[in-house]
Amino acid sequence: MGSNAKMMDAVRADAPVDEEDDFLPASERDRGRVVGLVLVDIVNGFCTVGAGNLAPREPNKQIATMVEEASRLAKAFCERNWPVFAFLDSHYPDKPEPPYPPHCIIGSGEDNLVPALQWLEKDPNVTLKRKDCIDGFIGSTEKDGSNLFVDWVKTNDIKVVLVLGICTDICVLDFTCSILSARNIGRILPLEDVVIYSHGCATYDLPIHVAKHIKGALAHPQELLHHMGLYVAKGRGARIVNSVSID
Ligand SMILES: [Zn+2]
Repeated sequence: MGSNAKMMDAVRADAPVDEEDDFLPASERDRGRVVGLVLVDIVNGFCTVGAGNLAPREPNKQIATMVEEASRLAKAFCERNWPVFAFLDSHYPDKPEPPYPPHCIIGSGEDNLVPALQWLEKDPNVTLKRKDCIDGFIGSTEKDGSNLFVDWVKTNDIKVVLVLGICTDICVLDFTCSILSARNIGRILPLEDVVIYSHGCATYDLPIHVAKHIKGALAHPQELLHHMGLYVAKGRGARIVNSVSID
């Protein structure tokens, strides 16, 4: 067993996520709980090999699986006319987002959904939201004080959100923490549960042996940070599931 696998076994033993086995959106609906699908930043700049500063340098299994699962579930939801909300990280060239290098600049193509999800742009069941910050809940706040995500939950009478996307420990986590706080004080009605699908999430990989040669870089081991993202989300009150079945 390699040192990374041993380290992950120790982390999983000491800080287990205890994922739920199967999540069934159709049976939630049967119980009167509409499920909304939320896709976080599944854009070229984070997912497509070689697409930019924060895109994978080479094919990455965790990211590829996340895109496949997002595509499968988005298709299933839209076929049934169930609600879908998709965030797209999109930045203005003159507005940096430290500590990150320039990424997902509007018009670069990095800010567009990956090829497997581009059809979402024209699907009537989908609400798209471009955001120029990490936390999609904050990014959904409009100038007049309204919030597009809150409005989407209310309009569709959503009681459960199923969250997928990238990065597990950054945009997915920050969004999850914010909506859990907002839910707890009755700011997102009628939302009850926030469910994260583990294999529908991914994060980037910057191992220490690479990071130490890049000035100022912070190491970001993929398996560890993906796990910790799920763990922290669960600690804040999210449900974590390891599979989602539609029928
Ligand atoms: Zn960004």
